[in-house]
Amino acid sequence: MPTTAELVEPASDADAAALLRGATLVIPRGLGRSYNNAAQTAGGLVLSTARLNRVIALDPATGLADCEAGTSLEQLMTAGLPHGWFVPVSPGTRQVTIGGAIAADVHGKNHHRAGSFAGHVRQLSLLLPSGELRTVTPEGDPELFWATAGGMGLTGLVTRATVQLTRVGSSLLGVDTVRTADIEETMRVLAEHDATHGYTVAWSDSMATGGSTGRSIVTSGDFVAVGDLPASARDRPFHFDPRPKLAVPDLFPRGLLNRCSIRLANEIWYRKTPKSRHGELQTISQFFHPLDVVSNWNRVYGPGGFRQYQYVLPFGEEAAVRRSFEIISAHPAPSFVTVLKRFGGADPGLLSFPRPGWTLALDFPARTPALLPLLDRLDRLVLEHGGRVYLAKDSHVARSAFEAMYPQVEEFRRIRAVIDPGRVFASDLSRRLSL
Ligand SMILES: Cc1cc2nc3c(=O)[nH]c(=O)nc-3n(C[C@H](O)[C@H](O)[C@H](O)COP(=O)(O)OP(=O)(O)OC[C@H]3O[C@@H](n4cnc5c(N)ncnc54)[C@H](O)[C@@H]3O)c2cc1C
Repeated sequence: MPTTAELVEPASDADAAALLRGATLVIPRGLGRSYNNAAQTAGGLVLSTARLNRVIALDPATGLADCEAGTSLEQLMTAGLPHGWFVPVSPGTRQVTIGGAIAADVHGKNHHRAGSFAGHVRQLSLLLPSGELRTVTPEGDPELFWATAGGMGLTGLVTRATVQLTRVGSSLLGVDTVRTADIEETMRVLAEHDATHGYTVAWSDSMATGGSTGRSIVTSGDFVAVGDLPASARDRPFHFDPRPKLAVPDLFPRGLLNRCSIRLANEIWYRKTPKSRHGELQTISQFFHPLDVVSNWNRVYGPGGFRQYQYVLPFGEEAAVRRSFEIISAHPAPSFVTVLKRFGGADPGLLSFPRPGWTLALDFPARTPALLPLLDRLDRLVLEHGGRVYLAKDSHVARSAFEAMYPQVEEFRRIRAVIDPGRVFASDLSRRLSL
């Protein structure tokens, strides 16, 4: 549901502290890439980090980057790659800020190896609801650090953070692709590739039924060492061109994404992919951020937009993963981008989403009929099998279900009651879930 708030863009910590003084309702905002209303607060003040976006220092020897919280992952890539450093974790878009990446404790295709984003943050500056600017480290103040990591902006405004970047051999990846016939093969190949590749993911055909349920394209990759690049790529091994290449026209036909068109697109994509391909060279944009190549890709969903849904189900619950595919493929609501991946170990974030298991991300055109009953059904399945849904993508889960999915929520509420007794930091999302 859209709501109205005042948007402010402080240019310094002092500006932000001044804006906080006397405010009764505040929520931080980065680039607004969370899918619903985590960065919005009806009738309150939205503290944007749009002008707090400088990379302050990047040590080319150690890969430690000190940046303001509004720095985007794209900026960090542009700064780090010439020295051979890449962001430690990248979600499916690089248009997210460091503050947003910490607050949602985001994950990427390398979760099975690298965990989620907060595990690579060495220190952060947090403007507390009281107006105090505190330096927080995982060792010095683990309680506040791990409430802030995954805490969806509710512990204060992160103004600055030090992030350990990851060494890469070049800006190109060697990618292996396998086309799988059904969900069992998809899960088997993902498990095999997790053992051999740093980055893995499966794009799944959510509309395939019967013996083809869960058929997918699994792509797995690793950055290639300069010496292994073809001669033509060796003179610019860290080249990175972040510019979008395409735009969705203003007059993109409404309702073009429907059950028929998505079924057709899935069929074409699936069939055009060879059964298996080894070592294809791909750029960072091709491999990590295909949607960023289209500047306003979200328009394809039309004015009604779309709803994202993402769950994780523990290992051992493979039958429930299969069941979720059966439920989705039998339903009138089609998911256009359907992505399955295996998570590795969880970090201590009290509200961090990732935990060991299978994570499935879906997006449904919002105006498709009977979407809410479908989400209800998925919530029930996820809950019954010990899973949880991702707050950065949630628009739907009931408070009681959320509390059962996140058993550490009471600990989170306790910490919040200490640092923000007046509940000044709150979002439309946090009010719905009484966080
Ligand atoms: C195309 C696409 C693909 C995506 N793929 C993935 C994926 O693969 N993995 C994944 O984990 N996520 C994914 N996401 C979700 C996205 O990574 C997260 O929602 C992320 O938090 C967005 O960052 P942002 O800067 O836009 O933050 P916003 O959306 O503006 O805010 C998100 C939350 O962070 C808080 N916040 C923002 N800045 C600060 C700050 N400085 N201090 C304190 N709190 C702050 C806000 O209050 C809010 O609760 C994807 C999103 C898109 C659009």
